Amino acid sequence: MTRPREDLAAATDSSAVLDSVVTCPACGFTKLEVMPTDACQFFYECTGCKTVLRPKRGDCCVFCSYGSVVCPPMQEQRGCGCR
Ligand SMILES: [Zn+2]
Repeated sequence: MTRPREDLAAATDSSAVLDSVVTCPACGFTKLEVMPTDACQFFYECTGCKTVLRPKRGDCCVFCSYGSVVCPPMQEQRGCGCR
């Protein structure tokens, strides 16, 4: 059995959710970012404090580590091409 769908209210014609709210671990700043569908973002500069975030160990991108929604490849459970 696959995992139940989470909140896909923002879904359009694609099944993947592309909006992710990134929360900076250094200052707590949050920002809504639109994720690329075909690539992972490894570096992300916080708008609030300019800290450059990197994924946590075991995560493929900053959205998986700090975003409210994991990246599209992970949503579709097809893995991430960057690993
Ligand atoms: Zn920050």
